[in-house]
Amino acid sequence: MEYLSGISASSGIAIGKAFLYLDDDAPEIPRYGIQKEQVVKEWERFLSAVGEARAEVAKLLEASSREMGREQTELLEAHLLMLEDEEFQGRIKETLEERLENIEWVIRDIAHELTQKLLSSPDSYLRERAVDIADVARRVIYKLLSFRRFSLADLTGDVILVVHDLSPMDAFVMNKERVKGIVMDMGSRTSHTAILARAFEVPAVLGLSRATRLIDDGGQIIVDGTAGQVVIDPDARTLKRYKNAFSRYRRSAKDLLQYKDYPAETTDGHKVILKANIEFPEEAEQALRYGAEGIGLYRSEFLFLSPGHPAEEEVQYQAYRKVLKSMGDKPVTIRTLDLGGDKLLSSIQDSDEKNPLLGWRAVRFCLSLPELFKTQLRALLRCSVEGNLRIMFPMISGMEELIDVLAFFEEAKEECRKKGQPYNEDMPVGIMIEIPAAAVMADVLAKKADFFSLGTNDLVQYSLAVDRGNEKISYLAQPFHPGVLRLLKTTIDAAHNQGIKAALCGELAGDPYAAPLLLGLGLDEFSMNASALPLVKKIIRDSSMEDCGALAAEALACSSWQRIALLTEEWMAEFFSDE
Ligand code: PEP
Ligand code: MG
Repeated sequence: MEYLSGISASSGIAIGKAFLYLDDDAPEIPRYGIQKEQVVKEWERFLSAVGEARAEVAKLLEASSREMGREQTELLEAHLLMLEDEEFQGRIKETLEERLENIEWVIRDIAHELTQKLLSSPDSYLRERAVDIADVARRVIYKLLSFRRFSLADLTGDVILVVHDLSPMDAFVMNKERVKGIVMDMGSRTSHTAILARAFEVPAVLGLSRATRLIDDGGQIIVDGTAGQVVIDPDARTLKRYKNAFSRYRRSAKDLLQYKDYPAETTDGHKVILKANIEFPEEAEQALRYGAEGIGLYRSEFLFLSPGHPAEEEVQYQAYRKVLKSMGDKPVTIRTLDLGGDKLLSSIQDSDEKNPLLGWRAVRFCLSLPELFKTQLRALLRCSVEGNLRIMFPMISGMEELIDVLAFFEEAKEECRKKGQPYNEDMPVGIMIEIPAAAVMADVLAKKADFFSLGTNDLVQYSLAVDRGNEKISYLAQPFHPGVLRLLKTTIDAAHNQGIKAALCGELAGDPYAAPLLLGLGLDEFSMNASALPLVKKIIRDSSMEDCGALAAEALACSSWQRIALLTEEWMAEFFSDE
């Protein structure tokens, strides 16, 4: 038996068989020289792979014309045409003969050249075509390498997933019924995989460094997501202890649900709004079950991660509409695409980007692909008459960017008007405050936004210069850092001075220790993973605004995060002492 300690990423206890998932990456494309005589053979390999890829696309096309929208079908048809295109094929043949390199590498190179050229074009239509080229090339290369990746969607038995680094995409497609727990070498509490684990209510411990080396495939393990511990090969006594803890955990989670329909109101009558964060439309039901008063953050980019391809307008429209319909007249905030960083649109975003978290991400990505951006904006506008919708833009760094984004929004409105599609002219449009410069400039930005939502996952990452996915430095990612608290305070005050609301949708919103402090700072809305709602609500209902204000003032006067953490711990100790 052995204990490992990591980061508690998603609460709960799971006991089961380890499933080591190590093949987590696409194959490397080999590069080697060939003899002149081999050209014919390489060319034949290419033609046969194209044939297979065509058959695959044709099959998808058949399924898509039945189930999906017109645009999806058009896209697949475009792929088919590209595979058959004489010029494309001619170019590959020429390069093969000229360079005498293996065909996989030739395709990779030509596709790379073409996509880069298209991406730097001033014509947005051409930039958008880069996605299709990359997709087609990958399809053919995978055929040549006979690569078919084991998909976590195909899991058939119950397992505890043990991985080095699970991408949000893998977490997205995995068979959620079968994955009972997640154990990961990499990652931190605010990495997107952790966020997904909480959304799926799968206990998870991350940042373990050596778990994949220490845990045997098929061996028994315990995941204690609440304490951030993993037990390898537990003995009978330990197993029994954890089984009891599992029952206790379930009981206390159920007890807390009794507060679900009560308002989030302090003992001295100050009301705040508690909402849920979601990544998939289906989660709206779960949010309601936990008593969410709305959706404070729908991470729309997850719609794009599953096929690694832009979702067309109709697919988006249906997904957004589904959330709105589930939520009735409750407010739903949909965030425009925050692709990039660790959520790559694999067909065009480069995983080799030097600093992806400081790179081609969120609105920066959208602003350079206007069609993709406007497609989303049109889908959102069309939905604005279907429910209580608000939209918000991620990663706004300053006024210029906000003005650019709003200009696209106006263009999308104009396009809807031309098509006779109605939309709600008064739909609130907010921005995320997650870049330190935006927090500092919040008084200026507040003049152009209907609300703010603080993204503390990124705000902590950028203000403290600590990569949110890197377990080696996760001890530095302290949301209670006085520098971070001051940014929160500046933002909340700026919002109030301008008469708009300040929300917070980073993971900090669901941290019970942070609740009194955030209340005291004047936060109006908390948005968190749904299962965290009952406990946060209980804490708010048992607190007074007067005490919370005093706590916040004391915290703001502190010079170290340890001191502030201690203050919140003392508060919680007192809070729980009456239980
Ligand atoms: C955040 O940065 O706090 C946030 C809510 O957005 P995301 O975690 O998706 O980056
Ligand atoms: Mg963010």
